[in-house]
Amino acid sequence: MTPASEPARILDGAALAQRIRAGVGDGCRRLRERRGVVPGLTVVLVGEDAASQIYVRNKEKAARAAGMESHVVRLPTATSERELLGLVGELNADPAVHGILVQLPLPEGIDSQRVIEALDPDKDVDGFHPLNAGRLFAGLPGLLPCTPAGILRLLEHHEIPLAGKRAVVLGRSNIVGKPLALLLLRRNCTVTICHSRTTNLAEIAASADVLVAAIGRPGLVTGEMIKPGAAVVDVGIHRVSEESECRRLYGDDPERLAAVRERGGTLVGDVHPLEARRRAGWLSPVPGGVGPLTIALLLENTLAAAERAATSVH
Ligand code: NAP
Repeated sequence: MTPASEPARILDGAALAQRIRAGVGDGCRRLRERRGVVPGLTVVLVGEDAASQIYVRNKEKAARAAGMESHVVRLPTATSERELLGLVGELNADPAVHGILVQLPLPEGIDSQRVIEALDPDKDVDGFHPLNAGRLFAGLPGLLPCTPAGILRLLEHHEIPLAGKRAVVLGRSNIVGKPLALLLLRRNCTVTICHSRTTNLAEIAASADVLVAAIGRPGLVTGEMIKPGAAVVDVGIHRVSEESECRRLYGDDPERLAAVRERGGTLVGDVHPLEARRRAGWLSPVPGGVGPLTIALLLENTLAAAERAATSVH
């Protein structure tokens, strides 16, 4: 690992995501030429959540750029669970749709888990269906959740040693923390998962060779929680709009301050960026770290689902 006196090297998710997306583009071309199949991704958005609208638009654009058929089905907030389940049933039956993504969170009154369980597991490109979660648990091949799969790729791409290393995952959500812990275990890390009830969180975090923060708390991971030279992956995404908070996290960084003053905000993760840069050996930036990989892995999953469908039909 890099000595702690050097500033952390960047775990460049944006560059890796571009490479992955280019590879998906090639895969789509091959599938079209060899089997006449164009991978199809349908994203379902219920309601008006502003952040979700942006995520969904980005996913649609990225899928199209890779040569996929991509559609967004936009439904009003008042959509009932029954209506949504009906739509999922139709998409499950549509052979032109290889990947279905129901954007979360869903409006109140709709049970997300029930909707996820209604998806055809072979079209579950988010990797959230219990069958895919079970496959991951059992070490079997299946569609992996995009963010954890992207994080693993990021670490592997930068040749961060994993086997025998101590990995600490902060957060135990079904979409990031838990699946990531299993993926790190697969790579022979010794894994600890921390959560809001963990005592001595700082001490445990500071023992990690590989530290992943997925807790949804801006800048919570401070310098003393990082082992000098550790690889730190920051999954959190938060908007900072107060100048004092921006200074706490980024010091006098002119670009970040200008973003707050002129554009009303800048982004930060769960890791304190200034302190982490001084302590860590490797650090994923926000933005440009984990975020772009989540979309790239979604495209890879969709291509994989289409290839699987194409080979099982013919
Ligand atoms: P989540 O479902 O809210 O889970 C947060 C986890 O962090 C929970 O396990 C919670 O513990 C734990 N936690 C909360 N506060 C804590 C504290 N003070 N100390 C220790 N643990 C604490 O969040 P998520 O969906 O996993 O997402 C986490 C972050 O990653 C969010 O900022 C989200 O926006 C971001 N994210 C980014 C991407 C991307 O593509 N870049 C993708 C997904 C998520 P309990 O279980 O005990 O409540």
